[in-house]
Amino acid sequence: MAIDGQGFGGVERRGLMFVLSSPSGAGKTTLSRLLMERMPDMRMSVSVTTRKKRPGEVEGRDYHFVDKARFFAMEKNGELLEWATVFDNLYGTPRKPVEEALATGHDVLFDIDWQGTQQLRQRARSDVVSVFLLPPSAEALEKRLHSRAQDADDVIRGRMSRASHEMSHWAEYDYVVVNSDLDAAYSKIESILQVERLRRERQMWLSQFVRNLQRQLEK
Ligand code: 5GP
Repeated sequence: MAIDGQGFGGVERRGLMFVLSSPSGAGKTTLSRLLMERMPDMRMSVSVTTRKKRPGEVEGRDYHFVDKARFFAMEKNGELLEWATVFDNLYGTPRKPVEEALATGHDVLFDIDWQGTQQLRQRARSDVVSVFLLPPSAEALEKRLHSRAQDADDVIRGRMSRASHEMSHWAEYDYVVVNSDLDAAYSKIESILQVERLRRERQMWLSQFVRNLQRQLEK
């Protein structure tokens, strides 16, 4: 039998909201980039932020950089799926691109903190799969923050002390991956994604498929 997606607008699988959180410097940006390169069906949620653009960051690719007035206007108009204050800056997830991607069967990758993850879970529990990424050691985290060298020393110190606080939320996540080795961490994350895509309730074509099988068997 052809699986043609009839009855659910041509979408055979319900897209999932794939959240990757970690303290800064645990390798989340690199892993997100790899996922986007290697998973053509995945869409990245580009957040809005009031933080200043870092060297090398591109408007619309890394973030939408906005001022506070614009941010609060978006929040007031219900345009944000979640939002939080992180390091004295505001960050939020625009709702529309996420809803559009999910409706067309795409998975969406979110690089958001624990506060945003909690909000997404409250709003869309069954669609959210969350992964918390840990650095292999405190030294490794510090080294990565310094090698990035995009932030001033006091900013790095702030991020180090915040890392411990952020890590205290590890148990709120569905999966935890220790990033000792980039390739190994990537393949774990890829496995999580693949197995979550196979969950029965995400395979919207199944009930029609089984009904057709039964019809044929009962002939
Ligand atoms: P950075 O300033 O280093 O790009 O990001 C700082 C933190 O803000 C990271 O932990 C990142 O995951 C988080 N973040 C980025 N965008 C969002 C967002 O839209 N919502 C929430 N809740 N956190 C975000």
